[in-house]
Amino acid sequence: MSRSIGLPLTFLARMADLLDEEFPTFLAALSRPPVAGLRVNTLKLSVAEFLALCPWELKPVPWCDTGFLLPPTHTASTYPLYDAGLYYLQEPSTMAVATLLAPRPGERVLDLCAAPGGKATHIAALMADQGVLVANEVEPDRAAILARNLETWGARHALVLSETPERLAERWPEAFDRVLVDAPCSGEGMFRKSEQARYHWSEAHVAGCALRQQDILDAAAALVRPGGLLAYATCTFAPEENEGVVWRFLQSHPDFDLEEPAPLPGLDRGRPAWAFWPPTQEEVAPAALPDARAEALSRTARLWPHRTEGEGHFVALLRRRDGAPRREWRSAAASELTSRERAALAAFWEPTVGLPLPERLLVRSSGEESEVYALAEDAPDVRGLRALRPGWLLGTLRKGRFIPAHALALGLRRCEALQRLDLPLGSEEVARYLRGEPLPSSGADGWVVVCVEGFPLGWGKRVSGLVKNHYPKALRWP
Ligand code: SAM
Repeated sequence: MSRSIGLPLTFLARMADLLDEEFPTFLAALSRPPVAGLRVNTLKLSVAEFLALCPWELKPVPWCDTGFLLPPTHTASTYPLYDAGLYYLQEPSTMAVATLLAPRPGERVLDLCAAPGGKATHIAALMADQGVLVANEVEPDRAAILARNLETWGARHALVLSETPERLAERWPEAFDRVLVDAPCSGEGMFRKSEQARYHWSEAHVAGCALRQQDILDAAAALVRPGGLLAYATCTFAPEENEGVVWRFLQSHPDFDLEEPAPLPGLDRGRPAWAFWPPTQEEVAPAALPDARAEALSRTARLWPHRTEGEGHFVALLRRRDGAPRREWRSAAASELTSRERAALAAFWEPTVGLPLPERLLVRSSGEESEVYALAEDAPDVRGLRALRPGWLLGTLRKGRFIPAHALALGLRRCEALQRLDLPLGSEEVARYLRGEPLPSSGADGWVVVCVEGFPLGWGKRVSGLVKNHYPKALRWP
């Protein structure tokens, strides 16, 4: 099926100039509908377990072993397993980024421009709950969405901040093993999906984005430890924001080298000559340069909609040369709970949650309420920073009682809830729970984790045979 999506004429002229003979195939691809994808949450279940539960016919994404293409008729955004955080709906090309960043369990990883959380949730899954993931988003409203998505994902070792890259660079120089800059960009690669991106596009916008990207990358570079990896990604085709930005970065940061990406299927090479595009720019063409670094730009990677089943994306892996050891950060100090607080927490925890109570807890008080967080073992001190989540939010202490957070239920794995109400997938009760209705259930009074197929969906509180609904109002089905 082909459709007209009103592409900016100047954009088309630029792409015709850049792609030459390939342009007609590219244009034909842009008039086809976009492909949707999902990525399985391996923090909660294996890919094989997910496929046994999944009702849609899926096709693997070649560059991500947990990613799948959805058929056009899918209903994946209104399905209970989505509310249980068993998968994330993510544009397929974007799944290449965390695959290439390849974070490892136990590392310190920073996702600097993280909302709404596609790549952050992918990074969290690859880190398997070990180490520290700092997910940062400068826009406060978007940071709140990021926090919610990481909570649904059940990422227990993630912190969510809303800071400028510069403030983080001052606070934690050379502290991270890996840093991802998934930069704000002109979004040409999302033109098939986003009318907004088409509407806001102009050459001036492209130029403005390139300047901003350079500033963000400068700050990001300072955060990477010697020997660590900085990944830069955009969802645009514009050379000024891709090869151009990376070229300027390499010139101003001689301690970074471009690293060859893993040879994933579907990945194309970047184009060194495009670093100096449009040709009116002052730089000389790379062929005339004595510097072999320009040729190294072929180690950047591109995904194209006419060559793969996905949208446009660009990725560069920049390795900081080794030398000095990683700089340490000040660790988060755990709070001393009062005996009253500890008793309230234990009274809830022991009969309800089948995990030992985390040892390192942080209590943040405001007024009569205190939020209780579990701190990752290696968590940094975030005092003085805008931290939406300094750790895994367990719940709130209020007037001597502990009220569990949605994030606690969604962070529990399949067998970690002692008090549960198990509902089968496809049952009317699941839909009723997600709509916010109470459910009849026999058993002891108290908090219960409502589960679908054994996977937590949220909290309920049983009183005399009826489970009162505590599913967050903002997430309820209509
Ligand atoms: N990584 C996200 C994901 O996978 O879901 C998408 C990130 S989006 C491409 C870029 C983000 O950068 C936006 O959320 C935007 O608010 C943020 N941003 C905008 N200006 C910024 C700046 N000056 N510094 C850092 N981040 C910025």
